[in-house]
This record gives sequence, C-alpha cells and structure tokens, in this order.
Amino acid sequence: MSAVTSPSGAVVADTVAGLLAEIAGVGRDPVRGGYSRPVHSAPETELREWFVSHARRRGLEVETDRNGILWAWAPAPGGSRDRAVVTGSHLDSVPGGGAFDGPLGVASALVAFDQLAARDVGGDRARAIAVFPEEEGSRFGVACLGSRLLTGALAPERALALKDAEGRTFAEVARAGGLEPERFGPDPTLLGSLDTFLELHVEQGRSLVDLGRPVAVASSILGHGRWRLSLTGEGNHAGTTLMADRRDPMVAAARLVVRIRDLARTVPGARATVGRLTPVPGGTNVIASHVDLWLDLRHPEDGVTAALVEEIRVMAGVLAADEGCAVTMSEESFSATVDFDPAMREELLTVLPGAPVLGTGAGHDAGVLKDHVRTGMLFVRNPTGVSHSPAEMVEDADAEAGAAALTESLELLLRN
Ligand SMILES: [Zn+2]
Repeated sequence: MSAVTSPSGAVVADTVAGLLAEIAGVGRDPVRGGYSRPVHSAPETELREWFVSHARRRGLEVETDRNGILWAWAPAPGGSRDRAVVTGSHLDSVPGGGAFDGPLGVASALVAFDQLAARDVGGDRARAIAVFPEEEGSRFGVACLGSRLLTGALAPERALALKDAEGRTFAEVARAGGLEPERFGPDPTLLGSLDTFLELHVEQGRSLVDLGRPVAVASSILGHGRWRLSLTGEGNHAGTTLMADRRDPMVAAARLVVRIRDLARTVPGARATVGRLTPVPGGTNVIASHVDLWLDLRHPEDGVTAALVEEIRVMAGVLAADEGCAVTMSEESFSATVDFDPAMREELLTVLPGAPVLGTGAGHDAGVLKDHVRTGMLFVRNPTGVSHSPAEMVEDADAEAGAAALTESLELLLRN
C-alpha cells in the first residue's frame, strides 16, 4: 500500500499485518502459549498506548470516556460529533488467546481510516474508532464490561464490586489504571451522538473457509450467559478421612460437568461449557472444602436457555446432595440473542457483493450496543476455524481484504 497523508499532514502507510506485527511481542503467555492481555494489565495498557500513538499520528482526537472506553475521533467540520459512524473492537484477550480476536478490528479500523482519508471521503460527517475494555470478561467475569456500563446494561455498583482472581475489585484496578470509578455508569449523551457501529472481527468458526470467501456480513449473535455454581462440602485430610466419611465437592463438580455436557447434547442448538473450575484450598493431599465452577451456556432461543438453566440448577442440587454437599447457582451475565439491523446488512451487501451472511456463537460489544445504535459486524476468514486459542489465524491477504471491506462499508455508511 502506498503512503497516504492524514488530515494532520503526517504520512501514514500502514497495513493491517504491519500494525499487528508491531504488537506481536506484547503479552505473550509463556505457559499457555498465545497471548494473555487482561484488562488493565501491563500488556493491555501497552496496547492501548500503542493505539493512542497511532490515532494521534493520524490527527484523531483521542480520549478515554468515563467508562474506560478509548475513542479516537475525526469530528465533522466545525467539531460536531453528532450522527457519528463508529468502528473498532477490543485489545484485551482471554488467557492464552490468539493474536486476532480484538486487535484485528482495531488495526483494520486504523487502516480503513487511512484509506478514507486517502480517498478524501466521509470527512463531512463525524467518525470514530472505539476500543472497548474487558470485552472478554477474562479478568472480572463479565464480558463486554465497558459497553454494558456505557449502555446501562450493567449497574455500576455491580461492576465496581466484581473481583479478579487475586481478589482485587474492578473499582481498585480501574482507579489504579487512571479512571474514576465513581463516574462509571450509563452515558446517554455519548450514546445519543452515535449513529452507527460497525465492528470487524476474526471469524470464530470455519464457515468462510468452507465457503471459500475472505469476508462475511454478520446476521446475528447467539444468546449466551455465564453462571457460577458454588459447591460446599467439608475440607479434610486425604489420608485420614475414610471414603465413606467424605463430603467432597470436587466429586459433585465432576459429576455435574459430565451431566451438563450430556444434557446439552440432547437439546439441538445448545452449547454448554464448563471451562473453569476452582477448588479451595486446592492442595493435592487435601479434600476440597469448596469448588466454584463456571457454566457458559448458549442457545438461539432465550426461552430454551432459561429452561436449561433451571434444569441445571435442579440437577446441581441433586448431585450436590448425593455427595453431602450444598450448592448455589448465580447468573453473572446474560445476553439475549441479537439480530443485527437487517436494513443495514442489505446496504452493506451492496458494497460487498457476494459476501456470505453468517451468524456467530460468540458475544461482542456490537451485540450490547445493538439496542441503542444501528449496529453491524464483518467477519474475516480464519483458516484454522479455531479461536480463543493460540491456533487462531488470519492470512495477511485476508486481513487486507477485511480492511478494504471495512473501508467500503464505512464510506457507504458515512454517505447515508
Ligand atoms: Zn473479540
């Protein structure tokens, strides 16, 4: 790609692959492989600074809003930010995640803005790149924390009390990160200035591989939620406690994990996962006193999800009682199935002819914003079909095709 000049006169000549190469060393996880970039960690902070420097280089007005969302604005002439067209994604990752989930959307946004500037289009309308914090919920347990605070989907009191694995509250960590937790909460003025949000994301599946296409337009996001099950038994000595005398919550948890999988297999379209389990105290020669496990449950029909949750709640009670244990189950987050704006989807297809229209089983900030802003998504081919793993992949040519599709889409949206 040839060099282009930003509104501030700086020469900018980035490609998506080039931008991602700059951050390829940030937050590598030597134990899990891939990247661990939890919100407000040193690597995530470094990535945010990286984004800020790129945005400033392009003459964009950078600010962090009161919910910790980074914005890089190109206002309309006269400084207006009304009816803004926004793109962007996130820079945090799951533990041991891939290089593209989040950063691909941010890097593509920078390149798309370069291309719009080079073509000298869309300048009469406000546009911005947004970077949302804690999209993965990998540190504080609630996904899309920034967009949920912005829209009021999550009460600030609840968000501030969330704790990370070290027992630090979101309030403490956010304050240490330079934010003012007392100012967290819905921001109707900011939301009201947004006309459209379009997020580009790596595909978290292999539909585009099978279809032989580089870019898709999103149709929907599968409804999904997270529940915490806390099992309590009796901690004791592994050698001196007879098998008949045990109240072992680990055994109840193990049986529950299998039964949840078996139940989900009987319900078409359901996806149930227990990917995290914490025994307390967690010693090899100690019967656990307590086990927390987290259930991730997804289904296109929200009523089916609710029925499954109730079934699992009853099942957990029975299995816990069998082992002489007690159990509680609480919802940590739930996002209903999202259908993106069909009219916007049709519009996007006019500039992306032949692009497949795909649903996804993964949650996104776009899904949270959808009830407040006209919202859509683009997906870029992932040759491995694997995501939330070091095996996640995007070929360089597809990354540039994605940025080109984003540019065409933004140009169209800015004209409307
Ligand atoms: Zn993501």
